[in-house]
Order: sequence, then structure tokens, then C-alpha cells
Amino acid sequence: MDSTLLAQLRNAIRDIPDYPHEGIIFRDITTLLGEPRAFRRAVDELVHPYAGEHIQKIAGIEARGFILGGAMAHQLSCGFIPIRKKGKLPRDTVRIAYSLEYGIDEMELHKDAIKHGESVILVDDLIATGGTAEAAVKLLLQLGANIVGACFVIDLPDLGGRKKIEALGVPVRTLIEYEGE
Ligand code: AMP
Repeated sequence: MDSTLLAQLRNAIRDIPDYPHEGIIFRDITTLLGEPRAFRRAVDELVHPYAGEHIQKIAGIEARGFILGGAMAHQLSCGFIPIRKKGKLPRDTVRIAYSLEYGIDEMELHKDAIKHGESVILVDDLIATGGTAEAAVKLLLQLGANIVGACFVIDLPDLGGRKKIEALGVPVRTLIEYEGE
């Protein structure tokens, strides 16, 4: 990626120190989403390697993955499927528990969201420890998805999430790295 684009994206992301807990720097992409050029360029950059790959579904993780994923699906002319917090999806689901910083949570995907063997890209705004994305990958695999890649605007490499997802055999694409947490 060229350095101008990198700077444009980095400038559009807002850092919120000590949110939601002391010691965490929250990387807020709502400012990026609100800037027309930065939003378009981020989405263009996310979809770029997958153009012509016959992707059938984008799977977005609630909630910021929905915004990026919807735009990606539109651009790739493919479907979008939501991976949601438990209790939100109305039909039969597969469900998985995953660890958060404090305690555990569960996420779900409609059982009929994917046909066996369909090519899917997973998307979220940021990968930190990779626990959220790992759970999402496992749900998709349970339904027989062919996960072509997982992509994120932001990587916090010190937390090891990328390696965790790559160890599951899923290639990872990220646009910006921030050192530390
Ligand atoms: P993890 O499961 O540790 O990879 O955390 C990833 C999820 O938590 C993503 O859905 C992110 O939106 C959110 N998240 C974790 N850390 C941050 C952070 N420093 N800034 C913004 N979002 C974060």
C-alpha cells in the first residue's frame, strides 16, 4: 500500500486513551467511516486482492464488521452474512463461546447462511488477541465454508491475533499496524 494512503487512513482513525478501560487505547474507526474518501479507500484496499476470486459471501462480525462487510459485499457483488452476539438471529443457528478480556461471550451464525464449500471472506475492524476472529472462523468452518481470507483495517501485532488465525490455515490481510495494545 502506498504511504499516502497509509497516512490518510491513519489520520482518519481516532485514538481514545483509557477506553473502555485504563491502559487500553481504543482505535476508533467511526471517524474513518465518516470521511468519504478514507472510507472508500479503506474498502477499496480491503477488497482489492479478492476481486476476480469469485467470493460468494462476506461474513461480518458485529457490529463494525457489518459496516465494512456490507460495503465490501456491494463492491464484490457477493452476499453478506452477519455473525451476531447470541440471541439476535431469528432462525436456527450455530453458536460458539469465546473469551473476552473479562469473562466470555457467545456469537452465532444462521445455519443456512452458507452452503457447504462456498467461498467466504471474514471481516472486522480490528484484530487484537484474535479470540473474536478465531471463534468466527470456527463457526464458518462448522458450516463448511471455504475461508479465502480474513481482513481487518487494524492489526495490533503485539497481541498475536494474526498468528492465531494464520495457524488455522486462514490468510490474514490488515491495512494498518499499531505497536502495543
Ligand atoms: P480480539 O478478540 O482480542 O482480537 O478483539 C477484537 C475485537 O475487539 C474487535 O471486534 C474489535 O473491534 C475490538 N477491539 C479490541 N481491542 C480494541 C481496541 N484497542 N480498539 C478498538 N477495538 C478493539
